[in-house]
Amino acid sequence: MSPIGTESNPLRVAIVGAGPTGFYAAEHLFRQKDLVVEVDMFERLPTPYGLVRYGVAPDHEKIKSVTKQYDKTAANPRFRFFGNVNLGQDISVADLCRFYHQIVYTTGAQTDRKLTIPGADLTGSHPATEFVAWYNGHPDYVDYQFDLTQERAAVIGIGNVAMDVARILCRTPEELASTDIADYALEALRHSNVKVVYILGRRGPAQAAFTTPEIKELGEMAGADIFVLADEAELDAISQEEMKTADRATQRKVEIIQSYVHNQRTEKPKQLYLRFLVSPVELIGNEAGQIVAMRLVRNELYQTESGAVRSRYTDQYEEIPVGLVFRSIGYKGVPIEGVPFNDSWGVIVNEAGRVLDPTTKEPVVGQYTAGWIKRGPSGIIGTNKPDAVETVTCMMADLAEGKVNQPAQPDKAAVTAFVDECQPKRFTYEDWLKVKAAEIALGEAQGRPRVKFTSVDEMLAVAHDS
Ligand code: NAP
Repeated sequence: MSPIGTESNPLRVAIVGAGPTGFYAAEHLFRQKDLVVEVDMFERLPTPYGLVRYGVAPDHEKIKSVTKQYDKTAANPRFRFFGNVNLGQDISVADLCRFYHQIVYTTGAQTDRKLTIPGADLTGSHPATEFVAWYNGHPDYVDYQFDLTQERAAVIGIGNVAMDVARILCRTPEELASTDIADYALEALRHSNVKVVYILGRRGPAQAAFTTPEIKELGEMAGADIFVLADEAELDAISQEEMKTADRATQRKVEIIQSYVHNQRTEKPKQLYLRFLVSPVELIGNEAGQIVAMRLVRNELYQTESGAVRSRYTDQYEEIPVGLVFRSIGYKGVPIEGVPFNDSWGVIVNEAGRVLDPTTKEPVVGQYTAGWIKRGPSGIIGTNKPDAVETVTCMMADLAEGKVNQPAQPDKAAVTAFVDECQPKRFTYEDWLKVKAAEIALGEAQGRPRVKFTSVDEMLAVAHDS
């Protein structure tokens, strides 16, 4: 038989997860010189693009243009998409091993990190990730309810997801109406009674996780004024020291934060309070179990032996009235059955993308990972490109040494026949492109980039009946 990676014996790769990282891995595989590679991408939803579709905020349309590049990759004749096929439910890792030389898990981080304080699960307290998935029309979150009759909301954490959530709560209906926000979310937010939003950071301005454009944007909203307390914006000695070596973006970030100290109330209907050096220690409920307040402790900064700047509690407490809370303290990966997983980090056990046997620490032949499920939920979309490249580099090195899985049926038709049996309602990329065209057409009529279909049945009808 001819070597793997040739015309008569192509390298057969399965990529699991159709988010940015999956596409970057496919793109880099197709770039390999003198290698014939066939990529099958599996995705549990009918739609590709992962967090670009269901995570990026609706008012950040420009960021979504990266999907053009993904469509280009998908147009490669050696690429196939198996959407609406759930690994662990419709098919298993053992099934994939029957068909592929190499498997790459790019499933991202699908849940949230837990906040362990009393009252964290009271009515009215939600992971921010659920609110994000809901307003972005993720089919699994369409029926979630958020009580927008409340006047005061708090977002715990000051990463970019917290910024997104705070902005969406504060945008005017007019601002939202020109985006691709889910129709039901637009309707719910149109009637929102939220007037005050607190964003709560446990460390100081110099350590804020959000990025500079995001904090600037909070100060430019049509319907909300932003406020920062003077004593919280002031840098302590540790932060001042940090700023001496900080990059320009961080310095600018701190300048912007400090400029908000001087803001005055205007006629804008909503107020956004960006707080620093505070940690929620308890969510307080009424008799019905509904949140009515949050107890906060003031923090101070300290430096660990390794130089990291951390926060610790002081003995000063305060209470703020809130009826709605979004816990935005980071995403977390979920395990895939049959793939070694590090539960405390929420990542697949790996080294540079090679999946490792947790006992022997030896690579599991033919299995790889990239993106958030490899390194944890950090960085912007583009960060996943070099990450995927690193993994593909390992895949190529292993192939050169003959360290690949030996599938019993390395052929395309066998996969199609098998998947059709397991999931007759699978989606091809052509199906997706029909849905995409229909969404854009609906959007054009309303002056929006697209109107999203939010149920799998709707998408199936559009793809298969047209
Ligand atoms: P993140 O950037 O890691 O921020 C998490 C936030 O939660 C931090 O402020 C962190 O504070 C805080 N936190 C963690 N544990 C806490 C606790 N026990 N109590 C109070 N606060 C706590 O995570 P993310 O916002 O989910 O974003 C994930 C990634 O996606 C990031 O890399 C982000 O930049 C990216 N993203 C980018 C965009 C964009 O480019 N526009 C939009 C959305 C997301 P400490 O810093 O003190 O740990």
